[in-house]
Amino acid sequence: MKNTTLCYIEQNGEYLMLHRVKKKNDENHDKWIGIGGHFEDYESPYDCVLREAKEETGLDLTALSYRGIVSFCSPNFETEQMHLFFCTGFSGTLSRDCAEGDLAWISREKLFSLPMWEGDKLFLDLLHKNVPFFSLKLVYDADGNLLSHDLRFSGEAREPLLISACLTGSPCRYDGKSKPLPEEILDALAKKYILIPVCAEILGGLPTPRIPAEIQNDRTVLRRDGADVTAAYATGADEVLRYARLTGAKTALLKARSPSCGKGNIYDGTFSGNLTDGDGITARCLSENGITVYTEEELSWLL
Ligand code: SF4
Repeated sequence: MKNTTLCYIEQNGEYLMLHRVKKKNDENHDKWIGIGGHFEDYESPYDCVLREAKEETGLDLTALSYRGIVSFCSPNFETEQMHLFFCTGFSGTLSRDCAEGDLAWISREKLFSLPMWEGDKLFLDLLHKNVPFFSLKLVYDADGNLLSHDLRFSGEAREPLLISACLTGSPCRYDGKSKPLPEEILDALAKKYILIPVCAEILGGLPTPRIPAEIQNDRTVLRRDGADVTAAYATGADEVLRYARLTGAKTALLKARSPSCGKGNIYDGTFSGNLTDGDGITARCLSENGITVYTEEELSWLL
């Protein structure tokens, strides 16, 4: 079993990424990954990540947080325990002369479009969501396909709770605004649950701000200008379900009446402010897959 470190260095919304194109017989060939490498004798995870960062980038990491352990299992290589770090501060000058590949600053929005291991996207997502220290086991087949994953939050008594991102203050609604719950409610929820903010419409690839949309009688989703955005809403629902499965969340707190998140009643498709019985696309998808959905009007069930 080998031990390694990996660190994502973030600055102004960009990540320092290494395009692995220089080493021979590299299992990561052509993949984009963070900074790090193998342990040397007598090294702790911190010793290793600080040394590797200096060797690969010339930087001294100064604001480092240890975020989790990722176990890689594959028939192609020895099982690896990778100690995952996130860094938001450093000193020194970036050296581009890395023996393992080409270094580049990549914006957070573009990260997931790079050639990357499927499992790397999972733990990058977890870093973005600021979840507690975790153990993530990733099992790959011989062709490099991710077969399964198992996520545990270490020493955590709190259950994960999916929450509509706009309820946490994220400006992701169609009008570019949010609908935050009162701070004392968010604090009480965070004491009891690991909050996993998700916005189905953003995850479905829709921009913010965007033209509002409503569900029609035939379950298509049409924008106010008539464009059909059903596919984006379905993709967003699938992505939220993926988060539920990744984090083990059995419960979701979603925004009432939204065509994605609403539960029990939603806008009736006429853009007139009238309501009708029904669930949003994501709320229905989660319910059909065994996730219990509440809206912010049912908080007493959660607190
Ligand atoms: S999709 Fe859900 S989380 Fe996103 S803005 Fe609409 S109600 Fe909020």
